[in-house]
Amino acid sequence: MKFSEFNFTPELMDGLNAMGFETPSPVQELAIPEIIADKDLICCAQTGTGKTAAYLLPVMDKIQKNKIDGFSTLILVPTRELAMQIDQQMEGFGYFVSITSLSVYGGGDSSVWDQQKRGLMEGADVVIATPGRMISHLNLGYVNTTKLKHLILDEADRMLDMGFYEDLMQIVNHLPKERQNLMFSATMPSNIRKLAGTMMTDPESINIAISKPAEGVLQAAYMVYPEQKIPLINTLLTDKDIKSVIIFSSTKLNVKAITKDLKKHKFKAAGIQSDLEQKEREEVLRDFKNRKYQILVATDIIARGIDIDSIDLVINFDVPRDAEDYVHRVGRTARAETEGVALTFITPKDQIDFKKIEDLIESEVYKIPVPAELGEAPEYNPKSRPAGKRKFVKKKNLKKK
Ligand code: ADP
Ligand code: MG
Repeated sequence: MKFSEFNFTPELMDGLNAMGFETPSPVQELAIPEIIADKDLICCAQTGTGKTAAYLLPVMDKIQKNKIDGFSTLILVPTRELAMQIDQQMEGFGYFVSITSLSVYGGGDSSVWDQQKRGLMEGADVVIATPGRMISHLNLGYVNTTKLKHLILDEADRMLDMGFYEDLMQIVNHLPKERQNLMFSATMPSNIRKLAGTMMTDPESINIAISKPAEGVLQAAYMVYPEQKIPLINTLLTDKDIKSVIIFSSTKLNVKAITKDLKKHKFKAAGIQSDLEQKEREEVLRDFKNRKYQILVATDIIARGIDIDSIDLVINFDVPRDAEDYVHRVGRTARAETEGVALTFITPKDQIDFKKIEDLIESEVYKIPVPAELGEAPEYNPKSRPAGKRKFVKKKNLKKK
């Protein structure tokens, strides 16, 4: 299949060519015709499958063909990084098209606010926003939403994880009832279906390889004791031609500690987590993309959805508590059909969580023996930990207080 079969406007096709897009990805092939046909759509496909273009292209095409002018499209996203990334992709596709876009996200000083306000009042065609900030603007009454035609929720699952449900509902109340709703998500938990049920009319549904890491990712794991993790990274990266590595950790405290440890071992590493200012985050990401840093240490929320090409290696420094997060982390490598490697460090107390991941992805991840020089390592035996032990400990602590 070719992009030309969608009959996009010549200007949009020029943009596609400039971006180097030749053939549509499977999600694009399925989603684009539905969107052109004005259907509501729930699209569930793993990270890296090309969901952004799947909605940007048909929506831009419609705006251009129907000569729609003014605020017609609202894209809601969980993080500012994602908003910026989508805006960039839109600029690429839209290079030969006169469609205006505006990102609206939190942080920044009053000049940023004023700029967003101005853009909203002028009626940018496409607004890409995080929910909290969008509501703040909407509540002040100067945003004209009467022409809105497309509402897009990108990374809907993550927005709900981050507690944006009420915000989303509030935003929807500001919009005309007659509109096209498009929802994109890497996973489809029940709360997403509920959300879809309340805001969509008879949606089409596209589901692609749910909860399976992209093909082309080589997955493996190490059973380790906590103190073996940093030495193991050291062994894995030393004297190898590995240019870009993302290390995931669940908490920002861990991100800071790991980054510090890596720097101590002379690695070019930088951490990114929610304590950083917007500017600092952008800088870190840019420097990582430009290969100034070999290693980016990140929390799930920050790294989710960020598109960085050619990651050679993903390391899960800890086992994600939510099995779906594993799929997202692993999806950071092997984007758009390249190859990549994802390694997970499992400590004895994480075994049961890891077993849940293996159940979810319906395959057993190969456990590589820890190099002998790092000392004796634990064995993988997910049944060995008494069920509920952690809970019991927590309860005891609570009583003490
Ligand atoms: P998702 O939102 O599903 O995680 P993205 O939309 O971020 O995925 O796309 C992942 C990467 O693949 C991006 O770098 C994007 O530019 C690239 N990509 C998407 N579709 C195509 C295509 N049809 N041809 C070439 N590259 C593509
Ligand atoms: Mg995406």
